Amino acid sequence: MTANFPIETEVCVVGGGPAGSSIARRLALLGHNVCLIEQATFPRPHIGESLPPSIIQVFELLGVRSLIEAAGFLRSNRARVRWSSTDNSWQSHPGESGFQVDRGRFDQLLLEAAKEVGVRVLQPARVSPPQRQGQYQWLVPVRSSDRHYTIKTRFLVDATGKHSPLSGKKQRYSAATLALYGYWKNTSFHGVESRVEAGANEWFWGAYLPNGTFNAAVFLDKQRYAQIGGDRQKFYEDILAKTTLFPDCLQGKLETPVQICDASSYFTTNPIGLDFIRVGEAALSIDPLSSQGVQVAMMSAFTGSIAVHTILTQPDSTDAAIAFYRDRQRETVVGNQKTAAQFYAEQDIYPATSFWQSRAHKPPIQNLTEWQLNTSLFNLNTRIQLSPAAKLMLAPVIQGNLIEKVKALHHPGLDRPVAYLGNVVIASLLEELVAGQTVLELMQKWSKQQTLPICWQLLQWFWSQHILVPLCP
Ligand SMILES: Cc1cc2nc3c(=O)[nH]c(=O)nc-3n(C[C@H](O)[C@H](O)[C@H](O)COP(=O)(O)OP(=O)(O)OC[C@H]3O[C@@H](n4cnc5c(N)ncnc54)[C@H](O)[C@@H]3O)c2cc1C
Repeated sequence: MTANFPIETEVCVVGGGPAGSSIARRLALLGHNVCLIEQATFPRPHIGESLPPSIIQVFELLGVRSLIEAAGFLRSNRARVRWSSTDNSWQSHPGESGFQVDRGRFDQLLLEAAKEVGVRVLQPARVSPPQRQGQYQWLVPVRSSDRHYTIKTRFLVDATGKHSPLSGKKQRYSAATLALYGYWKNTSFHGVESRVEAGANEWFWGAYLPNGTFNAAVFLDKQRYAQIGGDRQKFYEDILAKTTLFPDCLQGKLETPVQICDASSYFTTNPIGLDFIRVGEAALSIDPLSSQGVQVAMMSAFTGSIAVHTILTQPDSTDAAIAFYRDRQRETVVGNQKTAAQFYAEQDIYPATSFWQSRAHKPPIQNLTEWQLNTSLFNLNTRIQLSPAAKLMLAPVIQGNLIEKVKALHHPGLDRPVAYLGNVVIASLLEELVAGQTVLELMQKWSKQQTLPICWQLLQWFWSQHILVPLCP
């Protein structure tokens, strides 16, 4: 091993999966000096090959849509689903098709796109735990096959994915789940659509990949797998044989040994600080049932890039940037937990064994009366006021490529503080309101700022959300 090579950079990204490459590319485009380190030689295999159509919006935000669309991955807007007694087995999504990708190639394309805009990439090279050196400076030890490097950096991005020891303490927020999966050749399936099926104490997912193999995965309780012992492949093939949508696999040949990995959902409680950020699965993972892991990882890279850019260029807005990123991460966890639980609760082909019950927790419904839509009518002479539960307070929001604090509406019935409706700044409208004014008087004031149809729409929205309420007698 030769001498230690020093490298200085403003931002050091550890990990070249979809999250790492995306944040590195964005930060380079925003004018930062970025170095990325990836331990594997690409293309390397990776689970997570089914990407829903909703990811296209994220590709657009990151400027990689045409690159991915030109790559020739499989596309389908249909899935075969056997989950509930009301399913008719085929589910089609109107609009654009999703993708089934070879993750080796997909991740390589994203990393190349980062290189093209000036990101310096060390690969294959492995990072050991970085050390803080005084304020806002990290020393990152890196080892490649023939060299040691020490990278001195102002900002550290942890994009090391699920299994990295660098990624700090994590909290699980789902039942402990394992995935067993294998790649099959020469199966007798027709069509490229993905397949999802409920089992008695497990669920199955499968899809063709661009190289013609079929990935079939089964998701089950960690504890159950610990108890079976014995032959993993036999166990896997036996449960596939009992399914309706997957037995055709068994007509083909298993190309790889059956692989096993953790598929539980978790998050880190510390996703961002003054000089570091965690993106992608280094920060949180979601239930694979949604097939949105890559989308969520790339979206966290997008919001993360804005938070980092703000911290590096507008130090006065650092608190806002940190709060903004933390809030988006929390919303992702809460939203995913709720959606996954609803989906597990819809399974009604098999009895609700502990496998299904432990995943179908009904989310607690808080303040039900606050959350119901207000459908009572008002007329132009109704005297109104701002709900006592509504407050106008500063909240961090994205403004271009930065995060700033602006006045936003906080209300227990809203998922998050709202600063704009369309392009309308709502604080300035609500500040016009004097308790006891009639609806007509308020509309006259607002119509000096906005057209009447817009004023009317805004009024209806504030009313339905219980933000404007009848004046208390
Ligand atoms: C069973 C299963 C099925 C899934 N199915 C889907 C699906 O169908 N669709 C979907 O969208 N998502 C799916 N996911 C989730 C998806 O795989 C992840 O969300 C996605 O890969 C996260 O991307 P990432 O960039 O955060 O991490 P990764 O893609 O894991 O990238 C992390 C990178 O960091 C590198 N690295 C780690 N440590 C170091 C180090 N010390 N030094 C240098 N480099 C390092 C690794 O080599 C790796 O390349 C699934 C997950 C599981 C477990």
